[in-house]
Amino acid sequence: LREITSSKEAHTVHATWEEAAEQVEVAIARYSEFYNRLAVPFLVSKRPSWDKFPGADYTTAIDVIMPDGKTLQVGTAHHLGSTFAKTYEITYEDENGEQKLVSQTCYGISERCIAALISVHGDDKGLVLPWVAAPTQVVIVPILLGDKEKVLSVCRDLQKTLASAGMRVQLDTSDERPGAKFYKWEMKGVPLRLEVGPRDIEKGVVTLARRDGVKKAVPMEGLVESLRKEAEELQSAIFARARQFAKDEVKEVATIAEAKKQTETGVALVPWCGEVDCGHQLEEQVGANMLGEPQYQTFTEAACAVCGKKSTGRTYMARQY
Ligand SMILES: [Zn+2]
Repeated sequence: LREITSSKEAHTVHATWEEAAEQVEVAIARYSEFYNRLAVPFLVSKRPSWDKFPGADYTTAIDVIMPDGKTLQVGTAHHLGSTFAKTYEITYEDENGEQKLVSQTCYGISERCIAALISVHGDDKGLVLPWVAAPTQVVIVPILLGDKEKVLSVCRDLQKTLASAGMRVQLDTSDERPGAKFYKWEMKGVPLRLEVGPRDIEKGVVTLARRDGVKKAVPMEGLVESLRKEAEELQSAIFARARQFAKDEVKEVATIAEAKKQTETGVALVPWCGEVDCGHQLEEQVGANMLGEPQYQTFTEAACAVCGKKSTGRTYMARQY
């Protein structure tokens, strides 16, 4: 996958090591915001020293848990220290006129984010796209019974109203049966489907079907506002479902045997003293990879699963894509 997709990268240069470290945090915060908007839950880990970017001081990575319990790395931020500055003599002149080595970072994200999005939200009917990412946000399916011209004209008016409110909307006037259209647009992951037939028009409503299965009649009056609210609720619903899955997939374990069992289907949170030797033994005996130390979390003391030494250290372990 890495070979066939393009990367979106940033490369930054700083006067001090601390400023570069702050930039790594900025990168992780931006990626977090990005995945939150896509309603995709993620883990943030500091990769173990043997798995960091070659030459980097440290690597912070974002992983998404896929439906089969394996993880997909979807973003990384590297603190490069002055490693490359030394090699390429990248210096700056400070206020005292001295030449100093710069500190650098680089961070990136790739189209793997699309793979994560598809896998995390998709269901047996097909794609489930969050509102912000859906090329078509609303599809209108006319139910052509009775006065067909009337139905079509109401649908066209609706399409105009929603489009002028900034929604990406399509009117499906193809010759397929309504059932086939429903199936098609569900498969494409369109968040909101509106069915409009003579009976709906009579009652002054549309029949709304949300991609998460919620179905209800919604008054045509104030439809734009109602749909915005439904889109928000849908976003919350798919995020909640994804979060619950991600939460259930991570289990705290105490021993190598437990870690081995847990990583067969999900992510294990394993007590680790931080020693490289213990880390290598963990990977070997568990038969899974160390994602690294969970970031922005604190833990109580526990015995290292390998050497038994007490520490507050933990590492995520998983099978990786
Ligand atoms: Zn240990």
